[in-house]
Amino acid sequence: MDLNTVYDLVATADPAEWRPGDAWMAGGTVLFSFGSQSVQRLLDITQAGWEPLRATEAGLEIAATCTIAELYAFAGELPPAAAGWTSLELIRPCCDAFVASFKVWNVSTVGGNLCTALPAGPMASLTVALDGQALVLSPDGTRRSVPVMELVTGDGQTSLAPGELLRSVTVPAAALQARTAMRRLSLTNLGRSGILLIGRVDPGGGFVLTVTAATVRPVQLRFDGVPTRAELRDALDAAIPFPLYHDDVHGLPQWRQFMTEQLSEEIRAELADLPPGTGTETTS
Ligand SMILES: Cc1cc2nc3c(=O)[nH]c(=O)nc-3n(C[C@H](O)[C@H](O)[C@H](O)COP(=O)(O)OP(=O)(O)OC[C@H]3O[C@@H](n4cnc5c(N)ncnc54)[C@H](O)[C@@H]3O)c2cc1C
Repeated sequence: MDLNTVYDLVATADPAEWRPGDAWMAGGTVLFSFGSQSVQRLLDITQAGWEPLRATEAGLEIAATCTIAELYAFAGELPPAAAGWTSLELIRPCCDAFVASFKVWNVSTVGGNLCTALPAGPMASLTVALDGQALVLSPDGTRRSVPVMELVTGDGQTSLAPGELLRSVTVPAAALQARTAMRRLSLTNLGRSGILLIGRVDPGGGFVLTVTAATVRPVQLRFDGVPTRAELRDALDAAIPFPLYHDDVHGLPQWRQFMTEQLSEEIRAELADLPPGTGTETTS
């Protein structure tokens, strides 16, 4: 798609250079497919030279410019620093949830996915589920750290102020050592996610369930230990009023609500190590 209001392309990742009418550009797969009537300059951050992935004792830093292809490849060749980071097994199925073409897979970025904030944004599923912290750079030179959970606030909405640039997401080491279970549903074989749920049990025993794609924004439930079936269902009902379920061509909200409850229970049973087939009947 031609962006015929754009008159300049500037290679910069300096928020001080941002001005009204500018758009940060990463892979450009949204900017050039959704189009725009108002963007005047594209600020290309792909030349920033940010290391795509950095594993340290503190956790895994994912640069906003890390492409889906780079993230996927990383999961196949983990560095020694990532030993014991069991929850990285989520990376590949979350990347696969894109069901993207070769072009989108190779140029679209983690940051672009988060900032687009589609309910079916698989990078939000992944990084919210693992308690990712976003580093945000502001045009006034300040920086702030915000949970990705609070960055993605609605369908196509984020908490970024005009001109703010997402620099990276850091997943803390504690969440990286969790046991995880994931369920994803789509109405069609190669379709967009209608429901994407991730459960995790931390080394300390805490249980976290993250609901994405089914809802217009991520929803997270936390428990000190694996909850009972009834506790989980009550918590889902309390956290997700019906209007929060997403309604689009990828699924009716009634279907999303019903399957969220079913799949949440499957995740609970799996992470509680209940024998197959007994999970849905067990209450402790
Ligand atoms: C065929 C096709 C299939 C797709 N399937 C999916 C899908 O299943 N799920 C899904 O979620 N998306 C999907 N998308 C949308 C899109 O490709 C992804 O969301 C992708 O990750 C966007 O990344 P990008 O780097 O290309 O973003 P860009 O197009 O470069 O940017 C997207 C938006 O984010 C802003 N932005 C980008 N980077 C930053 C940053 N670091 N800081 C602040 N703002 C920033 C831009 O200004 C722009 O508003 C699909 C797109 C296509 C064309």
